[in-house]
Amino acid sequence: MTNLTSLTIRQALDGLKKKDFTATELTEAHIKASEAARHLNCYITETFDHARKQAKESDARYASGRAGLLDGVPIAMKDLYCTEGIQTTAASKILEGFKPPYESTVSGNMFRDGAVMLGKANLDEFAMGSSNTTSAYGNVINPWRSEAEPDKQLVPGGSSGGSAAAVAARIAMGATGTDTGGSIRQPAAFCGITGIKPTYGRCSRFGIIAFASSLDQAGPFARTVEDCALLLQSMAGYDPKDSTSVDRPVPEYFKAVGQSVKGLKVGVPKEYRVEGANPEILALWDKGVAMMKDAGAEIVDVSLPHTKYALQTYYVIAPAECSSNLARYDGVRFGLRENTDNGNLNDMYEATRNAGFGKEVKRRILIGTYVLSAGYYDAYYNKARRVRKLIWQDFINAYQKCDVLLTPTAPTPAFAIGENTADPVTMYLNDIFTIPASMAGMPGMSLPVGLSADGLPLGLQLLGKPFEEETVFKAAGALEKAANFTALPQSLMDKAA
Ligand code: GLN
Repeated sequence: MTNLTSLTIRQALDGLKKKDFTATELTEAHIKASEAARHLNCYITETFDHARKQAKESDARYASGRAGLLDGVPIAMKDLYCTEGIQTTAASKILEGFKPPYESTVSGNMFRDGAVMLGKANLDEFAMGSSNTTSAYGNVINPWRSEAEPDKQLVPGGSSGGSAAAVAARIAMGATGTDTGGSIRQPAAFCGITGIKPTYGRCSRFGIIAFASSLDQAGPFARTVEDCALLLQSMAGYDPKDSTSVDRPVPEYFKAVGQSVKGLKVGVPKEYRVEGANPEILALWDKGVAMMKDAGAEIVDVSLPHTKYALQTYYVIAPAECSSNLARYDGVRFGLRENTDNGNLNDMYEATRNAGFGKEVKRRILIGTYVLSAGYYDAYYNKARRVRKLIWQDFINAYQKCDVLLTPTAPTPAFAIGENTADPVTMYLNDIFTIPASMAGMPGMSLPVGLSADGLPLGLQLLGKPFEEETVFKAAGALEKAANFTALPQSLMDKAA
């Protein structure tokens, strides 16, 4: 039998349909691979028995000709998605032991379509971070190593680091992530895989633990553009339980992959050529532009003049929303409670929140509370909201001239674990290319396009107009074909040899 863990989702679905193998065999192969890769710490909770049960049910559906869009496909679920009866932690101590009594809409959609869940994937605590080092359950290790320093362990990016590392390490065929300021696109770039954040409102946020509600959006990771399209098709859709979910039909996204980009207008925003940028990243960007041109696209120069304020604005709005969203963790309703001897309720709140939240989460709550305080609300929060509108307007203006934008995904390749942690601002800079589209609610996809001199994956980002994910998939399909990225993490090459 072929190596089941190296198949794409599309290949696996074809194989299942043809009865080349069963969903149970496919799941067992991924469980075995997951066990062998435990050192990467991709999962906070493994749900292998649950996966076996789901695979068995999937096999029954194949036998009776009732298989769904993702039937039998083993995936990792970011541990920010509430899964009924299965521990959901948001990588925080404060939610340890929390078993949601309900299912998130997106995970429910995927199970409806037959997906098999291998485990709850590790992440930065409450999705706050860019390196998966703020998790209360330990950091995730990127399966890639640099050729120059092969002993150094690298971060998978964040916050959806466990999801991205699992897909890159071939222990899951796909995964869910969430992206508030880049948490799907940046880890996809660091791990050499594809990931898409759809338009805000495309996927329901119901049952996804909230970080910054006006920015949070669900999306998938996979190893090909087409696989991402299949996953998104299952995840997306209107949900009356989320007032910001948008009632539009979900297209068959995979049909856009492989379509010609002849005449497609690809915008190149000059403001993304930031001073002091990594020359390797800039060279890759130029290469990507040339690839799109060769494929028949028309390249246009565009300007997004407020890009330089996006990061600052994000770090006012996201903490403001997080301070409000995280107020609910008080020791009464969910998870952890620190009892104090004096019977004082306020002391219990304080002790619980102090013990339950990590440093980065506390930092954000403090910033958020400050920018929302009566004296500073106008100076910071309201001003940030106004700048956000200008950032959105930049995109609308640019999209008068082009259909998609092409930019780098991240300013560097994956860095070492422990690097960039002393100074939070250096860490925040990692999202410089992903945050503007988050602020504007636009869809964005990252895909691997090349390797650094050290042999680490580098990604490019395609941004699209609201609800035009199909155009993003079409452009991404063309770029994927031209880039022909086939490199594998060192550990997998050793195995293949
Ligand atoms: N790295 C960004 C942050 O720390 C974005 C995180 C995300 O998209 N969830 O807030």
